[in-house]
Amino acid sequence: MKHKIGIPRALLYHKYHFFWEEFLRSLGQEVVVSPETNREIIGRGVNLAVDESCLSVKIYLGHVDYLKDKVDFVFIPRVVSLYKKENLCVKFMALNDIVRNTFDGIKILEYTTHVPTFRYDFIGLFGVGWQLTHNPFLVLRAIARAKKTQRQQLKRLLLEQEMRLKGSDKNLKILIVAHPYTTYDSFLGIPITSFLEKQGVELVFADLADEKETRELSKNISTDLYWTYNKELVGALEKYRKEVAGVIFIMTFPCGPDSLVIDLCQNKVNDLPIVVITLDELQGEAGLKTRLESFVDILKIRNERGVH
Ligand code: SF4
Repeated sequence: MKHKIGIPRALLYHKYHFFWEEFLRSLGQEVVVSPETNREIIGRGVNLAVDESCLSVKIYLGHVDYLKDKVDFVFIPRVVSLYKKENLCVKFMALNDIVRNTFDGIKILEYTTHVPTFRYDFIGLFGVGWQLTHNPFLVLRAIARAKKTQRQQLKRLLLEQEMRLKGSDKNLKILIVAHPYTTYDSFLGIPITSFLEKQGVELVFADLADEKETRELSKNISTDLYWTYNKELVGALEKYRKEVAGVIFIMTFPCGPDSLVIDLCQNKVNDLPIVVITLDELQGEAGLKTRLESFVDILKIRNERGVH
């Protein structure tokens, strides 16, 4: 049976959307993705979330609010851990409960990935597929297609980035270190990256680097990082630090894991200019642009003087 399944365009959507959309479509479902984040969606999220919540979760709730009456289910995977002895931020563990407690009677389609308890992706996805189709062959095919699509798309994006890095010696290169849900959100990261591109800067994105490689490289900065996604970003900083002129960390307020990890990186990486941009729902564009412009100017001056 065909259902309308909503996916909020927020948080892990930006990391796994190729996978999730292919999986659900291969099961014959109609996928409805909420629109790009805008002021109205943020307003909805801010009204619904507790004040202490990070801006990324507020935005997520705004997207769920947009979708909830337009679809049969809202798709909310619960990702607790992807590796043993590591976790994700607690917000991902609790996401389905946060949504359930925020919206009365909302219908959620969910599964849990928690590696130490042997709840791997496959088992969770199979459960979702079974719930929707009762056809094990269709589910197995959907999982295989989704994995292949995700792999191919990530490989393509990484290849494009590596080509850009090799091909453009003239442009100033800056590494953007941020979670994909910050980098690719139209309210959070996109105004920053488009502004930098207009300044003629070549951007390198930490989240595109190969996961296996970055996990290994992160050990050069810290051997006991606890949050998987932060570990990958730190490893990407290590991978690209010799190829870029500066680094921009972008975080949303108030993010515990990012504050700690950015502090750690600032202490350990002394050979590169770093700027930290913290975004909240009240951010003004003018101040942000001035900071970015000044940072780019500093990098240009260093470049002209041959400081590397
Ligand atoms: S890592 Fe930070 S920004 Fe991301 S969900 Fe957790 S608290 Fe929010």
